[in-house]
Amino acid sequence: MPEVNDLNISAVKQSFDTALRAVSNLDELDEIRVRFAGKKGDLTLLLRSLGKLPPEQRKQAGQEVNKLRDEIENRLNEAATRLRDAENEKQEIASRIDVTLPERGRTAGAFHPVMQTMHEIANIMQGLGYSVATGPEKEEEFYNFECLNVPPWHPARDMQDTFYFPDGTLLRTHTSPVQIRAMLQYGAPLRIVCPGKVYRRDNDTTHSPMFNQMEGLLVDKNVPFSVMKGTMSEMMNAFFGRSLKYRFRASYFPFTEPSMELDIECVECSGHDEHCRVCHGTGWLEVAGMGMVHPNVIRAGKIDPDVYNGFAFGIGLDRMAMLKYGISDLRLLFDGNVSYFMSSFEGAKSC
Ligand SMILES: [Zn+2]
Repeated sequence: MPEVNDLNISAVKQSFDTALRAVSNLDELDEIRVRFAGKKGDLTLLLRSLGKLPPEQRKQAGQEVNKLRDEIENRLNEAATRLRDAENEKQEIASRIDVTLPERGRTAGAFHPVMQTMHEIANIMQGLGYSVATGPEKEEEFYNFECLNVPPWHPARDMQDTFYFPDGTLLRTHTSPVQIRAMLQYGAPLRIVCPGKVYRRDNDTTHSPMFNQMEGLLVDKNVPFSVMKGTMSEMMNAFFGRSLKYRFRASYFPFTEPSMELDIECVECSGHDEHCRVCHGTGWLEVAGMGMVHPNVIRAGKIDPDVYNGFAFGIGLDRMAMLKYGISDLRLLFDGNVSYFMSSFEGAKSC
């Protein structure tokens, strides 16, 4: 093979072979195209050098260089096609949907356990002839305290216990103001339950500054004490799905007289486990406060307490949910992680 200046045709061919073997993508191939077939590439230099050869060598060298140029062009084009096909295939594989793969886990939507509890108890009470009533969470002192026989000196009104707004309104500390609003709006006789959020300045492992309550109110003529006891036991039995033992203890609330607290037998151990984590071995669980409505409260609802009487009760829905669904930590109820509930929540299926 003739020498063309310091560039040797076979040396160019060899370095092209080496470079082409190492190429792995179209960008690298473009660099090689510039290096060998570009305006200042090795082939152009070879062609330019032909003129400096003696005439007897020029023809043969020219044919050699042209042959090499054709070969380089063909092989560059082939490599471009091959690399482009490979890149297309790679992209196609990356974007391909494999319809034979199993679908990703889907989580069924479900009510929050507290909402579930709220609905269950409201349904039970609706079955006993009660209506569901709601009211504002931002409440006036008048409805939250005054109408409920809570005088201004009462500790519940303290700034330490209640969230006040600068204008004197407050976040309701119980759902009882709904009872007043309902009496004012509908009069007697009346049977309502008032579920909803309430707020107090409490925040520790067993208290949250926001919690869920349901109160009930029955106002009618000659309501006996036994109706209250019967209603409460009926509600608890229906909610927990079995016949429970009860204990009523005398208590005090400003808005009822007499006032009681209701204990039910421990739903975890029924009083048979002295190390029970739920009842701490007492066998009893406090679940509700109640009492015969104080005449002052009935009067605040613009109903004559000489004609009508009634009873009211309040239960903590968070606590009821925890007892029914075996939730051990109150804070879990306000945690954003739903997986805990999806695994423990009766009726929820993960599919
Ligand atoms: Zn127990």
